[in-house]
Amino acid sequence: MRVLVVEDEVKVASFIQRGLEGEGFSVEVANDGETGVTLAESNRFDLILMDIMLPKLDGIGAIKQLREKGVVAPVLCLTAKDTVEDIVAGLDSGSDDYLTKPFAFAELLARVRALTRRSSDDRGAEITYADLRLDPVAHKVWRGDDEIDLTSKEYALLEYLMRNAEQTLTRTMIAEHVWDYTFDSFTNIIDVYVNYLRKKVDRGFDKKLIHTVRGVGYVLKED
Ligand code: CA
Repeated sequence: MRVLVVEDEVKVASFIQRGLEGEGFSVEVANDGETGVTLAESNRFDLILMDIMLPKLDGIGAIKQLREKGVVAPVLCLTAKDTVEDIVAGLDSGSDDYLTKPFAFAELLARVRALTRRSSDDRGAEITYADLRLDPVAHKVWRGDDEIDLTSKEYALLEYLMRNAEQTLTRTMIAEHVWDYTFDSFTNIIDVYVNYLRKKVDRGFDKKLIHTVRGVGYVLKED
């Protein structure tokens, strides 16, 4: 597993690098956003850890550029900010998860494992529901004949909804299954992600598949 750490604080970067290398990850460090984008474009990483406050190009801008350039590696944001707006801005730019500084290494490791595990233990037969089709090996999703381009978290969320189609899933269930932990006050992160997914899965189709169960959560079903 190759991890890119984009972090300008040398102490923090080396703390993460030593910790992850001790766990068997191969780690490269970039000290500013521009270098991070250049490295991520020209190498294949299994995960990118992205600080938000960075010289030259900030983390949000860097993630946007990477997504625009088609880099699909999961991104974990490291942020000193912890307001909902800041976190949503990070997720909006295309990151998959976030961790608020200061953090314990054990917590970082848990997030890193959750984000990198998805790609390695996915297997099994295609899942279909209505005109949706998901290939867990190739990590691809189609609605009808059209492939839907999803980020890794959107994919994980849709897979969870499809594997539990026609069952109401609470925000807590979704948080635990898709993020591997529960959010305390940030359950609207789930709503943000469901909205991203809706735009990609349901927009332009008469038949909507993702439905809100008011006060409870979400369900994938035909009307
Ligand atoms: Ca920084």
